[in-house]
Parts: sequence; structure tokens; C-alpha cells
Amino acid sequence: MTGVGRGLRVTDRRTSLCGADVVPYAPSLYNVRYQHRRIAGMVASGEKLLYGGIEAGGTKFVCAVGTSPDDLRAEARFPTTTPAETLGRVIGFFREQAGQGRLAAVGVSCFGPVDLDAGSPTYGYITSTPKRGWEGTDVVGAMRRALGLPVGFDTDTNGAALAEHRWGAARGLDSFIYLTVGTGIGGGGLVNGRLLHGLTHPEMGHIRVPRVPGDESFAGVCPFHCDCLEGLASGPAIEARWRARAENLPPDHPAWEMEARYLGLALNDLVCALSPLRIVMGGGVMGNRRLFPMVREHLRGLLNDYVRAREITELRADYIVPPELGERAGVLGGIALAQDAVASA
Ligand code: ZN
Repeated sequence: MTGVGRGLRVTDRRTSLCGADVVPYAPSLYNVRYQHRRIAGMVASGEKLLYGGIEAGGTKFVCAVGTSPDDLRAEARFPTTTPAETLGRVIGFFREQAGQGRLAAVGVSCFGPVDLDAGSPTYGYITSTPKRGWEGTDVVGAMRRALGLPVGFDTDTNGAALAEHRWGAARGLDSFIYLTVGTGIGGGGLVNGRLLHGLTHPEMGHIRVPRVPGDESFAGVCPFHCDCLEGLASGPAIEARWRARAENLPPDHPAWEMEARYLGLALNDLVCALSPLRIVMGGGVMGNRRLFPMVREHLRGLLNDYVRAREITELRADYIVPPELGERAGVLGGIALAQDAVASA
């Protein structure tokens, strides 16, 4: 997954080196604990507030109205076509929900790369995406103008991480990673209670990992780096290497051992750099649950007892886990971002 720095022109499109697309993302900076207190205060006051969540993906948009996973009043999915048509359907959906109650804000967990710099003239835009027609799309502005509401905005993976923190597999943890392994590889999460966000945003899918023995001849599929993690271990990488989609590979296929090795190498680097209390792993490739114990084993072997944490040395099953919110993590991330937009207003 890819991003652009503060102030960079969104027209900085690059030529693919390896012939594959990525689905980018980026994260943001919040004090989540502080916002939780403010949200709780609003609820205690008895005010009835609903929130609109949007998971803006490269292939589909998911919209919902509600307050939590247990309180979703309406939900809709639209294919991602042109920006005008797709955002028009999103706006239409929220206008149709007026009878549900007062909408306080909407939030967008957005594919990207996106501009998250509040001081930038293109804040809230999708920037240098390879998704045709979407480069330079002003997502936040379109929502604000049409709905007249505060708009929370962050990347798809950070939105999903925020939802898992609030309602799912990372509840109560101030430092964790959310990593998705699918069409692309991306990561978000919290460190010391703050969503990961900085110079631009983390690019966990584009870290470099050494080649697994036997994989030296595979070029990799990342259009920017060829053989970064995403280039070697994403769903399209598996398909390009083995000539079959991951979901069609049998359980004993050597692709899985290779995949587990690459993911173990990546987690080794992420554990050493960020020291997460938990690693939540989602995305289509991780739908093969057999990968989880394999990745835990490789991570333990690579760290070789240097990181003395029982979660790792004892192969605890609650250290590397699937998301609890499943396919709704993205749209619930939108609702969480909407809540935070109100809390920080
Ligand atoms: Zn890359």
C-alpha cells in the first residue's frame, strides 16, 4: 500500500514495474482514550445521536447508520464505479435515513492513498491511487457539502483498527497492530493509545523482507518495489507465483508454508519496531485460519528467545488473532471515526 507526503502533488503517478495494483491506505493521530471519555459523556447526557459509517473500498462502498456493532439501523453496499456516481449513492443513502434519528457525523475508512494532513489544501482527498478515475477525489469535501455534518476521515486499515479497539479484538489495548493481508498488505493500529500516523503514515505492506529459500526466481508484484512484503505475500503475489488464487489452494500446498514464513519475517520486524501487545490479522489470505499457528511458530523461531514475552515464547493463541468484527470492521471504523469527529469538534 502506498502514500504521499505532506504537500506532494497528487499527480505524482508512477509507472508499474511489476504489473500489479495495490489497494493503499493510511492512518491518523488521535488520543483515543480521551475521545472515549467524551463520547461516554454525551451518551450519559441522554442525547440521541446516530453516526454514519462509510467503508470506501476500491471495489465496493459499505455504508451504515448506528452507534455500535449491536446497534446498526441500516446498511447498504454499492459497487465502486465513478466518484460522482458512487459518492452520490452514498449521500443518497444517508439522506434516506433521516427517519432513523439525528445523524451527528459521518466517518470514512477510505482506500487511498489519502491526504490526512489537516493543514493541506487537499486534506480529505484520495491522492495518488492507481484506481482509475479516483485520483484527486475530494471525499471529505463532498460529504461535508452534501450532508452539512462533521466528517471523520482516515485510512481503511486505521479505521478498522479503531473499530477493533473500540468493539473487537483489541479492546483495552493501548498498543497493537492491525494488519490486513489480501489484495494488498496494510497495517494500522495504536501505540500508547494513539492511532499510528506521522510523516505520512506507516506502510507496513512495503517493508522489505529477505527471500524465503526456493522463491528466488519470483519477481514480486508490487508496482513500486517488486519484492517488498506486499509484492511477495499479498493475494495477487500468491496467485502470480502459484497460478491459482489463495482460496483455491489445498491446505497442504507449499504456498501456505511460504506465506507463513514471509508473514513471520514481517511480524519479526514489526514486533521489534513497535512492540505491540497484540497483532490482529485480517484480509482474504488470512481467511485460511491454519496460517495463524504457522505464523506464530515462525515468529517465535525468528525472535529466538530474544524478545522475552510469554505471548511469543509460549505461542499464546491470543497474541496473533483474527479480527472480531469480520467484514464489518471497515464500516464500523467509519462509525468510530464519526464519533471521534464529534468528540473532537
Ligand atoms: Zn511495495
